[in-house]
Amino acid sequence: MAVYERKAQVGEGTYGKVYKALNTVSNQMVALKKIRMEAERDGFPITALREIKLLQSVRHENVVSLLEMMVEKSSVYMVFEYVDHDLVGILTHPTFSLEHKHVKDLFRQLLDGLAYLHKRGVLHRDIKGSNILISSSGQLKIADFGLARFYNKHKSTIDYTNRVITLWYRPPELLLGATAYGAAVDIWGAGCLMIELYGGRAVFQGQDEIQQLEAIYDVMGTPTKEMWPDFEKLPWYELVKPAEEKPSQFVKKFDRHLPPCGLDLAAQLLSLDPSKRPSAAVALQHDYFTKEDPAPVRPTGLADLVGEWHEFESKRRRREKNQR
Ligand code: ADP
Ligand code: MG
Repeated sequence: MAVYERKAQVGEGTYGKVYKALNTVSNQMVALKKIRMEAERDGFPITALREIKLLQSVRHENVVSLLEMMVEKSSVYMVFEYVDHDLVGILTHPTFSLEHKHVKDLFRQLLDGLAYLHKRGVLHRDIKGSNILISSSGQLKIADFGLARFYNKHKSTIDYTNRVITLWYRPPELLLGATAYGAAVDIWGAGCLMIELYGGRAVFQGQDEIQQLEAIYDVMGTPTKEMWPDFEKLPWYELVKPAEEKPSQFVKKFDRHLPPCGLDLAAQLLSLDPSKRPSAAVALQHDYFTKEDPAPVRPTGLADLVGEWHEFESKRRRREKNQR
């Protein structure tokens, strides 16, 4: 049986801590994700069970691998392959920066992973930087399936609770109260990350649901009946009606950061109407990937980074800096 030697905490999450540890038998580094049991009155947490079941059914180079489960002193851990960095850590690194050819490679890997998940009928539902792991050889892996669900990909949508997805990456249909949605929610998150990869910061930063919708409208413009016919049917449409019509500022805001085809793809991914967002598979065929320079190149420079860069350490470094 494997014996794990704990090295350091690398994450602090919604339902447990994540530790870096060494498998002393295989000499392989792993991440141990502890499943928080205290709050559970009815036995094993259902969200964790869901994550385990989902992860056991997927295998792809751009999706993190669950190696095994471990029980230790009445704690249960998911054991993952260890990945040195996450996207928040990389994007907030004090000196390292990604070149455009690297950004394109990482974004292609993200869409490859999403295309695979969506083909298998898996919705991730929490696409954001801290859930995107990046190895020192520049390989990207989608992680954190805590909110993921199987969905029926033959029907376009299915009913869920509405409260999912970190605010900044939440698509307009969810902010307007939709409980029936599909893969397009992950595509919105991917669109947000694409802009973030180029611009270095999250595109839409609201403090609450109303502000989040405003932040989206400020950049993408307010929706019209022509561009999003179903928009007026959404549950909270009347409650959060924009006070005035706004035109899109998207091109003006981002044509400095993105190349022309990239800008066009990002605009499609960030269509207000979810039915207008291309699937991950279709996005991969866009001229941005197939025609526009530069061609994607693996960010091998990550191998020279000293240390490991995750959101957790980035936050700690920021705290320390603020205290000084
Ligand atoms: P949650 O956000 O639900 O707590 P995550 O699975 O996102 O759980 O893990 C929290 C953090 O731990 C991630 O943002 C990442 O920085 C780190 N982490 C997660 N999985 C790994 C892994 N396999 N290797 C290295 N770090 C990881
Ligand atoms: Mg997470």
